[in-house]
Amino acid sequence: MTKYNNLVEEAKKLAKAKKHNDCMTSAYVGSALITDKGNVYTGISIDADCAIGFCAEHSAISEMIKNKETKIEAIVAVSHQGKILAPCGRCRELIYQTNYNNKNTKVIMGPQKTSTLAKLLPYNWQNK
Ligand SMILES: [Zn+2]
Repeated sequence: MTKYNNLVEEAKKLAKAKKHNDCMTSAYVGSALITDKGNVYTGISIDADCAIGFCAEHSAISEMIKNKETKIEAIVAVSHQGKILAPCGRCRELIYQTNYNNKNTKVIMGPQKTSTLAKLLPYNWQNK
């Protein structure tokens, strides 16, 4: 998995948990993705009371879309404790809906473990 070690390191660098006040934290998780064009985009999670907030993958995908790209070659999320995390169900759908070809996105699941979005999301909400 050496090809994607830089993505893991980028995500790890961003995952520096911070408590902003009694109802909001950020960066418990960092994410990095690389597009089919070879550009890397990153993001952090935000957690706030009242279920406000989003996963790190969401902000990385937002950054990518801001730059007019949608096709993800590989993506990773890393916790502030340095653990590689699998994307939650909502993120799996978001990756798919961003570009249907992202079914082929490589999802980094561990130091020596990679899966594809198709394996993690065999049926999307539209049952396609
Ligand atoms: Zn998520």
